[in-house]
Amino acid sequence: AKKLGRNCWRFYESTMNDEAQERLRIETALRSALERDEFVLHYQPQVDLASGRIVGMEALLRWQHPELGMVPPQRFIGLAEETGLIVPIGAWVMRTACAQAKAWHDAARDHGIGAGTGAGWPGAPIAPLRVAVNLSARQFTQPDLVDDVARVLAETGLPPASLELELTESLFVDDVARAVDLLHQLKALGVALSIDDFGTGYSSLSYLRTFPIDVLKIDRSFVNDIASDGDDAAIVVSIIALAHNLKLRVIAEGVETAAQLDFLREHGCDEMQGYHFSRPLPVAEFERLLRAATAL
Ligand code: C2E
Ligand code: CA
Ligand code: CA
Ligand code: CA
Repeated sequence: AKKLGRNCWRFYESTMNDEAQERLRIETALRSALERDEFVLHYQPQVDLASGRIVGMEALLRWQHPELGMVPPQRFIGLAEETGLIVPIGAWVMRTACAQAKAWHDAARDHGIGAGTGAGWPGAPIAPLRVAVNLSARQFTQPDLVDDVARVLAETGLPPASLELELTESLFVDDVARAVDLLHQLKALGVALSIDDFGTGYSSLSYLRTFPIDVLKIDRSFVNDIASDGDDAAIVVSIIALAHNLKLRVIAEGVETAAQLDFLREHGCDEMQGYHFSRPLPVAEFERLLRAATAL
């Protein structure tokens, strides 16, 4: 047993070394990734369930590493948070996503592409695409967050109403008074505020009364089993009702099957996002999707 213990310890130790080395390697590489322009955004469409039209997209960060290839956010966001590197990275995400959304607005105006119109006829009313950007805890505590967002909107020319900031419930627990104040300042800019992963956090429903929120995003874990699990179905139906009673828009994320889609539509969910419609796409592919939607 002793020997086994030693072996286990050795195994554990070498694993830790590998992990520590991997962390250090990633941290060092993260520092230079911004300068080397190695980050890219993919965009996942958000679809209006009543009309079937693309009405927005979530910007999702990827790291195109020269050796590791496409690195998913789960592998580096945590470390970027810990080291504070998420602040400059998040600023890049915000600027890039807003500039991209503005470019798609202009394409819709000039060429009738996409823009949630579902049709490319001249003079068609344009419901401009919204872009959703994830905000991390670190960014939320930056004193110049509101100024930064205002500056990005001014510089890119994106209408504030077309920007949606995705926040998680965990951002609200530390200093509620400060969070309320900050959210009101962001709202005053004209942007929309959305609660990501709704229902999974350390949540108190009372903040829904106090905070100027516009959107609830139902977490993927609830959506997953709605067609088969009565509890999850009940939770999703309740979240939709809660959102609508509070005059909030509600988006289901992680929709992978037609059965899930049908359930959500039947229960009046406003929008959906998920592999069933589309994975997050690089810019060129997202544009193809918009063009195809326009041609319908
Ligand atoms: P999230 O904000 O909850 O984003 C949704 C995640 O679910 C994305 O993973 C997306 O690709 C994935 N997803 C979408 N539809 C489906 C589906 O139908 N099935 C399944 N199984 N998954 C689906 P991704 O892109 O790997 O991002 C993971 C997380 O990384 C995000 O979760 C978000 O917390 C974080 N993240 C991504 N981009 C950023 C960013 O720019 N800034 C910050 N702070 N965090 C980001
Ligand atoms: Ca999100
Ligand atoms: Ca989410
Ligand atoms: Ca259950």
